[in-house]
This record gives sequence, structure tokens and C-alpha cells, in this order.
Amino acid sequence: MSDILYAGVIIDQAHPALDKVFHYRIPEDLKADIQIGMRVLVPFGAGNRSIDAYIVSLDKEISIPPNRIKTIKKICDEFPVLLPELIPLIWWMKKEYHCLTIEAIRCFIPPGLRRNMDGKVEKLVFLKVETDINEKIAQVEGRSRYMGEILRILNEGDGILLPELADMAGGAPLSSFKSLEKRGWIYLEDQEVYRNPWDQPLDVLETDLELTQEQAAAIETIGEGITRSQGIYLLHGVTGSGKTEVYMHLVERTLKYKKKAIILVPEISLTPQTVERFKMRFGEDVAILHSRLSPGERFDEWRRIYNGQVNIVVGARSAIFAPIQELGLIVIDEAHEDSYKSESRPRYHTVGLAIQRCKEQGAVLVLGSATPSLDDFYYSQKGHYTRVTIDHRINQRPLPKVKIIDMRQEIKKGNRSIFSQILYDELKGTLSRGEQAIILLNRRGYAQFVSCRSCGYLVKCDNCDISLTYHSKSNTLKCHYCGNTKPYPRVCPECRSTYIKHFGIGTQRVEQEISRLIPSARIIRMDMDTTSRKGAHQKIIDAFRQKDYDILLGTQMVAKGLDFPNVTLVGVVTADTSLNLPDYRSSEKTFQLITQVAGRAGRGDREGRVIIQTYHPEHFAIQYSAKHDYLGFYNEEIRIREKFKYPPFCHIVRVLITGEKEDCVIKTAMDIKRWLEHRLAEDPIIKSGTLELGVYPAPLEKIKNRFRWHVLIRIRNERIFRERYHEIMDDCLKELYNAVSTIVVDFYPTSLL
Ligand code: ADP
Ligand code: ZN
Ligand code: ZN
Repeated sequence: MSDILYAGVIIDQAHPALDKVFHYRIPEDLKADIQIGMRVLVPFGAGNRSIDAYIVSLDKEISIPPNRIKTIKKICDEFPVLLPELIPLIWWMKKEYHCLTIEAIRCFIPPGLRRNMDGKVEKLVFLKVETDINEKIAQVEGRSRYMGEILRILNEGDGILLPELADMAGGAPLSSFKSLEKRGWIYLEDQEVYRNPWDQPLDVLETDLELTQEQAAAIETIGEGITRSQGIYLLHGVTGSGKTEVYMHLVERTLKYKKKAIILVPEISLTPQTVERFKMRFGEDVAILHSRLSPGERFDEWRRIYNGQVNIVVGARSAIFAPIQELGLIVIDEAHEDSYKSESRPRYHTVGLAIQRCKEQGAVLVLGSATPSLDDFYYSQKGHYTRVTIDHRINQRPLPKVKIIDMRQEIKKGNRSIFSQILYDELKGTLSRGEQAIILLNRRGYAQFVSCRSCGYLVKCDNCDISLTYHSKSNTLKCHYCGNTKPYPRVCPECRSTYIKHFGIGTQRVEQEISRLIPSARIIRMDMDTTSRKGAHQKIIDAFRQKDYDILLGTQMVAKGLDFPNVTLVGVVTADTSLNLPDYRSSEKTFQLITQVAGRAGRGDREGRVIIQTYHPEHFAIQYSAKHDYLGFYNEEIRIREKFKYPPFCHIVRVLITGEKEDCVIKTAMDIKRWLEHRLAEDPIIKSGTLELGVYPAPLEKIKNRFRWHVLIRIRNERIFRERYHEIMDDCLKELYNAVSTIVVDFYPTSLL
């Protein structure tokens, strides 16, 4: 290392003007210790203010004149906080997600470390003398009632944490320990303790279950990949098919090769059961990482991983950044979920990031889902991923029977209630048998659509085949793909009914309605209002599992991952809400939601039933989800995507512009479009790869007093065009950067709202 003189660093300051590698001289006394990935303190700017920076390169020579180069002040930690093997991933993120280098770096560093939080240290107490213990006890016994007791306990086994020992000795004060230490009879030693985010007991570790044939086959296929240290697998298993058990076996195989695993779940608070199962199976070998941990807990779990004290990390999307060197396996459970997309900078998609990380570290990726995203399934059809299928539930339990209720008929029969007669009857029957029900109110986003309650007619854009959004201010309907507007219709163009209006009901309304219909029902709500406090989800889930309530009523949250054997009825109040969103993925989202929530019914011994209320009983997303027919849905939807050139047949790049002044926002948006048009005119190849380029107000036109517009670019889904567009957008951002509006480039938008 002796000829290394300089270090290239990234300054810990998020500003576009500072987004480059700065070089510093390494002082003589640090040369032996310095490593790539370390955090250092450097003088910066005209005033030489001290600032944190991360080393990304070590160099023998640089092209800066020696008199202009400054010197590193000190090394902040004893170890490289960024694993050197993960640094290529940082450069990749910068390019792929158009973020600042430091924004990518910060993903890998626990916030506690950046704030220089200390590890928690406690004292361990040891016995120093070995002989004549009884005599020594006698000596001190008259003096203090604690000292003798401390010695007696230590004599039976020492190395006890001080606060614990103090308790055991009946509340011994610190002075007793000091006094014994002074006599030279005991000694104290520092020990790092880790704050533990897991407070449930771990005394009964679970063992493997006997695998079903399908599970065993899945493990064999993916196990081959683990042997070869490569492969991307799509594990398509119906709800209740035992995917978690498959993951656990794959983890065991990975550990056999002396490698480690990351298991990602959509949201920790919504999937406590998966975490629990891993903790029960692998105990102390599991670290948990997610954003609801306290900074101290997060820092400590991070250090346990970094120090190689655990082999398994279970966590939410940010756990993809876990500091693991010998990575062998990443599992993404429910990989279709939107929560895997980060909606703040850097706007990464966990699946894409995991593919890249696995490639770089020689690890296997498993994407598990009962309802894979259309893109992932398409890629498995194309052979980019290996698909592994589990078609049956555990113990050949049947999938629940699904009934579709046409709400238009209910209106005709004079039933204006939120509930159809059948759902009401089923609900009553379920409660009278002492069984439980889940009621889902399908509500997504804030957008409101307009439809006819007599015939189900939905007002759509003539150009785009996507529902129009109601704007109360202007009382008009607008398309958010092409900007087309229509007046609010007073009568339905199909059936002349005046029952045409915009929709949107809340869980509270539904709760009142159930109470009115079945006064004895014990209802618990799970939605944004009732789950804002930490631990609220878990409380609701526990109370429902203990049967303190008959009905769990909620939004999308109740649809996911939950395993309650006593639930025999699932009701979906309005299946259509997500169907009518101004989004090309509305059918996909609806199919996934209904299939997932239906999967909550009949997981125990008794068969489950599902009631779906809809104004579109004929819609294929609803029909196929009722038949549990993923393939049927996929085949129909993929044809629509191909016809209208939506993903995966194109790649959407969204440039979102926000700001407090609407005219500035619009001007920036228009400037970007013109800039791009100009660029395309010069570059016939890129032009040929561009399917559409347009400027529109975002469907959510204003959030927190900021106006929102977007430039939507659809490009051909081929690597060359994506790569070129990355470069073009970098240039565009540099040239059109302005202080008045914020510009965000998103190459992987999961929502265009
Ligand atoms: P999925 O994630 O596919 O919906 P889970 O992993 O939640 O399914 O498994 C559903 C239930 O089946 C769980 O209660 C699980 O303990 C149980 N299970 C899984 N595999 C087996 C097996 N081989 N034998 C018996 N029960 C199993
Ligand atoms: Zn009508
Ligand atoms: Zn349109």
C-alpha cells in the first residue's frame, strides 16, 4: 500500500454541484489503515469546514497540482462502512436511478452510524480470586449485605452482566462492586450488547415440515441454482401453497455452502407471520431490518450482520442493502407488491436492484408470488427467469369458492345498501357459526371515477381506453394520459339513467352499515386511520386471531399475507374501484388484490367462501380471479398490453415536475419536452426507439401545495434505448436544472398518479 498517496472521496452532502469524486492526500500515519469504503473526515470548501466523506478509490497519482490538494483529517470508523464489493452497485444505482452518488451511498449506511451513535456497552463481572472464597465472604459479610451475596453468586459461575448480577444479589448498588474491585477480588470487563428488536420468546424452535411433492420439486430446481451460484427464479405458488417453507429450505441449502441469505417481505408490519416463522426456525441466526426499528436497534442489527454474527437477514425493501459479503440467496416474497418500489430518492425498484446485486455477488434470486407482476411473468415466458410452479394448497385444501354479485341487479331490486343480500346473509351465517370474516373495501389513491350505477357504464377516454378522472373544481372529466377532457354527463350515454355519478366511500361508512345490519357484530377496522401508531397492526392482528372480533374490515392492508384459520368468509365490497383507476395496470392490480384477499379464506379445516360485489361482473380481471386462473388472466391482459404498447412492450420513463408556482412548473415541463424533441430530431436512432413523448398534468395535480406535471416518454423496451435514454436524461437534468421546480426522473414508475 506504500505507493498509494491519494484517496478519491464522495462528500456527505446531497447537492448536484458536489456530485463528483474529490481527491485528498492520505497523511503518512493513516496509510497503513486506510481502505476503500471507509468514512473519513476531510476539510472542505473555502473555510475548510470538516465534513464526512466516503472513500471510493485509492490512487497512486492524480492530475491535480500538488499545491491544491488537501489532506484527510482522520478515519471515522475502524472498518470500511461500505463493503468494497458493493461499491460497483453504487455506481450502477447512480446511473440507473439518476440519483446523486451520496444518495446511493446513504442507502447502505444505517442512520445511527452517520450520527456517530455508539454501540451500547455493558459491564460483565468476573471473579478474580479462586481460593478461600468462603473466608472472603465471611470478611465482608458483616460490612454489607450485598458483597457476600455477589461473591457467592459469582462462585457458582461468573461472567454475568452487571445489572443482572445486581438484581440477583437483591439490588446491590454500584458501590458494592467498586469496593470488591478495589480489593482485587473481582474484575469488570466491557462487553458490547446489541439492542434486540425481537421481543418474543425463542425457546421453542420449530423444525422442518415434511415437504409436499411440489415443494420438494421447487426446492430441487432452485437448489441447482444455489449449487451453481447463479439464477433468477420466479416461484409462482397459489395462496396457501407453503412458499415460506420453500424459502426456509433454500436458506438451509445456502448456509450449507457457507453463504448467507436476505429475505425480503413487502412491509414488516403487514407480514409479521413470515418474520416470526424465520425467527422460530433459525433463532439467533436471523437479523431483522426495517424502517420502523429505532435507530439504535437498526444500527445494532446492522453491526450484527456486518460482523458476520448472523447468516440470515429478514426485512423490508431497505434490507436489500444489508452489508453481506458472502451473499448466496435473495428471496423477494410477494414480489409483485408496489411497496418494493421506493418513492423517494433514490427511486429504486427492489427487484431490479436485487438482480444486479445477485449478478455481482454470484447469488441466486427467488421472486415468490401467487400473482406475479405481468412483467415478471412475461420475462419468465421469454426465458429470462426460470419459472417454478406450485399449483395446489397444502394438504390438498381446496381454494375457496368465489361468487360474483352483480350490484346493478341489487339496485334494480331496490337494494340501495352497500351490501348485497347474499353478502349480508353469508356474513350473518358466518358469525352465527362462530367463524370469522374479512371485509375488504377496495380503495386506491384519491382519484375519483364516474360511472353509472344502473348499467355500470364507465366514462373513459376515447383515445386511451382508460377511465377519466373527476375534477370537482371545474366539474369536468379529464384523461391523464392524453389530456382529453369531457363535460360531466347528466345522464348515462348507455341507458339514459340519471344514476351516473362519481364514487368514493370510506371504511367508516362500511362499519356503520354493518353495525346497522348486524348490531351484535364485533368489528375491528384496519386502515390508515387505525394503524398510524407503531405496533398498531400487530395489536389488531393479535386481537382478531384471539377472536376478540368477528369481522376484520379494511383496505388493501387486510388482503396480504395473513393466515387466520378461523376465517371462512371474505367479502369484497367494491371490486371495481381499482379497475377504474387511470392507470394501465388497473386490471392487473384488481386481479392481484382479489386473488390475494380470496386467498385469506379457508386456510384452516373448514372450507372458505368469497363474495365479490361489482358493477362489472363480466370484466375479465374479476372473472379470472374468481376462477383462480392466473394464466387465463395473463394471456388476456398481455394481449391488451401489446396492442396499446404498454409495459412490458414498452418502457415508461416518467419525468415528474413539482413546485409551488404552477406557471414555473408548466414552463419547466414544456422546456423538457422541447429539449427532448430537439435531441430526437438530431438522433434518428433514438427517435425510432421513442413511441411517445408528451406533457400532462399529473392525475394528482396538487399535493401539499405543490403543483405536479409530468413528461411521459414511452420507449421501445430494448436495452440500447434504455441505455441511451439514461444518458439523454442525465444531460437534460444538468441543462434544465432550476431552483424553482423539482425534477424527478423515474425509469421504473409503478404509479403514474
Ligand atoms: P403461502 O405463503 O404460499 O400462502 P404459507 O407459506 O403461508 O403459504 O403456508 C400456508 C400454511 O401451510 C402455513 O400454515 C404453513 O405452516 C403450512 N405448511 C407449509 N408447508 C407445509 C407442509 N409441507 N406440511 C404441512 N403444512 C405446511
Ligand atoms: Zn347507464
Ligand atoms: Zn386519453
